[in-house]
Amino acid sequence: MPAWLDGAACLPTSDGNEKGERRVKAAAFDYVRASSVADAWALLARHGAGAKLLAGGQSLLPALNLRLSAPDILIDISRIEALRGVTVSPHSVRIGALTRHADLLASPEIAAHAPLLCRAVAEVAHPAIRSRGTIGGSLANADPAAELPACTLALDARLHVEGPGGARVIASRDFFTGLFETALHPNEILVAIEIDRQPASVCGFAELARRSGDYAIVGLAAHGAIAAGVWTELRLGYFSVGTRATLATHAAGVLTGGGTLLEAAAALEHDLQPHDDLQASSATRQHLARVLLRRVVAEMESAA
Ligand SMILES: Cc1cc2nc3c(=O)[nH]c(=O)nc-3n(C[C@H](O)[C@H](O)[C@H](O)COP(=O)(O)OP(=O)(O)OC[C@H]3O[C@@H](n4cnc5c(N)ncnc54)[C@H](O)[C@@H]3O)c2cc1C
Repeated sequence: MPAWLDGAACLPTSDGNEKGERRVKAAAFDYVRASSVADAWALLARHGAGAKLLAGGQSLLPALNLRLSAPDILIDISRIEALRGVTVSPHSVRIGALTRHADLLASPEIAAHAPLLCRAVAEVAHPAIRSRGTIGGSLANADPAAELPACTLALDARLHVEGPGGARVIASRDFFTGLFETALHPNEILVAIEIDRQPASVCGFAELARRSGDYAIVGLAAHGAIAAGVWTELRLGYFSVGTRATLATHAAGVLTGGGTLLEAAAALEHDLQPHDDLQASSATRQHLARVLLRRVVAEMESAA
């Protein structure tokens, strides 16, 4: 079960039947299919706050069914071909927002130029969900337990967004602003993710979950470079450790400054404020974050 649904059983049962069982059915909504990005903005502008974009539906539809969200209208962007696919240019890789998780896993370009995404996407849910869910939907949803937001932090990705006010580029470190909150303006659409090609880099990824396919209790996506045995660059993107994906800048700074792994693990307490929930306490998460740091850094050092 997705981490954000853990509390669903505790929700008020006013929507339930006479036995008090909760009804798992969305409130009524209208539906319209957008034919282009500009059409989607126009529809967003026309319907205002009552509208929601629908991409793969793998987060939105469960939220509707549990009545955690009740939009008046869904604007389906899933058939806008211009938002799909991977393009490699001499300096960067551009991934359309509608590129599905399964397409990322199968992409030789992603395997060659952004292998961290392959590692992470393989841990996102199950094949059925990966065959519909999109990278743009995952990033726009900004679930703190999701793998891909942390990957974009580790990869220092740029997020391309477009709206009636024009196009802009948001650095991944500025995109995730809070729990399920992003820097997207109400009428903007995330159109693509761009990652610099960094041939001499190494990546590492690990997460701890109760079962394969579950959301992680704690996870770490890392990307960096090592020259002559010394870290020259390192970004540590943690997930499931608070209200949003988080860069552990203190811990990374210890390693790029020539400090030890033990010192870096200790520095994590300045980077992370993990939450308590039914799966783990804050202290357990802080401990697991240190465990993952040791594993991932050791893996990256041996691969460099
Ligand atoms: C059983 C289950 C298990 C799961 N396990 C995991 C997991 O382990 N890890 C994980 O990361 N995720 C997991 N998920 C969630 C899911 O994989 C992703 O969150 C999902 O793929 C999001 O993409 P989507 O295209 O389905 O987005 P949708 O559900 O269509 O949309 C999600 C949100 O993003 C907005 N949105 C979508 N596209 C755009 C866009 N281009 N621009 C602006 N806003 C947009 C929508 O309006 C909506 O608010 C799980 C889901 C389920 C049902």
